Amino acid sequence: MLTDDPDLPPCCTEELTPAAAKKALAEFDAQFVRGCERCELCKNRKQTVFGAGNPRPDILFVGEGPGADEDEQGEPFVGRAGQLLTRMIAAMTLTREQVFIANIVKCRPPGNRTPTDDEMTTCSPYLWRQIAILRPKIIVTLGRPSSQTLLSTKTPIGKLRGEFHDFPPPALAHLGLPRARLMPTFHPAYLLRSPGEKSKAWEDLKQVMAALGLAVPPSGGR
Ligand code: URA
Repeated sequence: MLTDDPDLPPCCTEELTPAAAKKALAEFDAQFVRGCERCELCKNRKQTVFGAGNPRPDILFVGEGPGADEDEQGEPFVGRAGQLLTRMIAAMTLTREQVFIANIVKCRPPGNRTPTDDEMTTCSPYLWRQIAILRPKIIVTLGRPSSQTLLSTKTPIGKLRGEFHDFPPPALAHLGLPRARLMPTFHPAYLLRSPGEKSKAWEDLKQVMAALGLAVPPSGGR
């Protein structure tokens, strides 16, 4: 069960200007996330990875958790999977600076394993507060853990992807988060292992582009 966290400030309820949102995100990171010791993941991390990008984006991408490169650099999606994500964003005629990129867990799971349900439950109140500040129109969840956590479901990613879902789901309604359309798609690390699935991810991203009124190029995401 995903609950709110009484030890954190309530989720932001106003639409902030980009400058105010940037400040709110930086303060939240500095006060609550950077020194977090709420779960075992803090023991092996070099640093937390809060997320980066436009503080009032149209699109928020949500991955799983930092890997070795992200742990080293303190930035999300900077390793091989991140380079593919950057190309996927470019195929959408956007830049990383125009979107926001975050993860469900802010610390690297040892050996890049999938975060446990407990770790995601402990860390997700940070993401809810980021979403309340960012107010994206569309959330693109990358892979199973983030798609299932944000939609509060156990449905497999192969069934979730390919169509928009309403965010927040009823299980998160008590947080008062801003509404967004949520598109689950495959994680770029999975696409590196299974390049034959890239065309499906591109179909998902084209739907996101169409929803934002962006002209869809004939091919991309390769
Ligand atoms: N994979 C993720 O899910 N997130 C990152 O930041 C990097 C790799």
